[in-house]
Amino acid sequence: MLTVFGSTALDTIRTPKKVLKNVLGGAATFASISASFFEKPGLIAVVGTDFPKKYHNILKKYVDLKGLSILDGKTFRYDGKYDKTLSNRKTLKTELNVLGDFKPSVPDEYKKSDFVYLANNDPEQNSKIIKEFDNVKFSMCDTIEFWITTKRNAVIKMIKSVDAVVINDEEARLLTKEENLITCAKKMMGWGAKYIVIKKGEHGSLLFHEDVIFPSVGFSLESVVDPTGAGDSFAGAMIGYLASKKKTSFSEIKRSVIYGNVMGSFAVERYGVNALTRLKRQDITKRIKLYEKMTTF
Ligand code: AMP
Repeated sequence: MLTVFGSTALDTIRTPKKVLKNVLGGAATFASISASFFEKPGLIAVVGTDFPKKYHNILKKYVDLKGLSILDGKTFRYDGKYDKTLSNRKTLKTELNVLGDFKPSVPDEYKKSDFVYLANNDPEQNSKIIKEFDNVKFSMCDTIEFWITTKRNAVIKMIKSVDAVVINDEEARLLTKEENLITCAKKMMGWGAKYIVIKKGEHGSLLFHEDVIFPSVGFSLESVVDPTGAGDSFAGAMIGYLASKKKTSFSEIKRSVIYGNVMGSFAVERYGVNALTRLKRQDITKRIKLYEKMTTF
């Protein structure tokens, strides 16, 4: 069984071509929808009473919502602006709202989850909730600049409590205060995680385990529309794939990273969650085959 915990948001996304206001977003939203193509997850998250019914209905199609709390107040809001390359995003606003003093708890039905993903969220909440599961076989977490700059020690503590960390290159540098990505990964493994995945946007990712490095390319795309949620879709695919296989061998973790690259590539092709919600299982199989063709010689 798989559980995803993290932010569910109303995002304002500013790309050079289009501005979207208060659209469905959040790290746990992207991650859990992406994971659902492999294994239906339970979602633990919080929204306010302003969270539109239509977004609730989208989530309901993909994930189990027993763990979704609806609290008096406003939903977590994120506002970010991309430059013309769509590779750099500047955070304009992070409003925690109901997420700020959320006291999450794991519904009894989810306590037996063997796979848990702590998506981007308050690291203190993440570290607390992972202890509430009875029998975790594999756990992963992510983080973002906001938490690294406001709660760095809590982020390090969270890394100690999981098996794997999935993180952007820039955030890995910021967190570890190192420049070289191998040194960054070694430092994070020193803090306690056994596997580190450093995502490099369109350029793919590096997976680290002990003294092995497994690089994988991004799926090359001619048209990128909105990169929001690509990293979360990547991580959701990894944990969803592993949960569906019920395996955590290094070779399966390598395969999960390939699914991560492929699901991340779908996520950027449309605005917000629209690419994921239009996706069919056979589209994924087709792209995995193309990816294999692209990378075999
Ligand atoms: P990504 O593009 O993969 O970095 O993920 C973007 C998503 O993360 C957006 O949908 C945001 O709602 C969410 N997000 C942004 N900042 C934070 C934060 N500080 N904590 C939790 N989630 C966040």
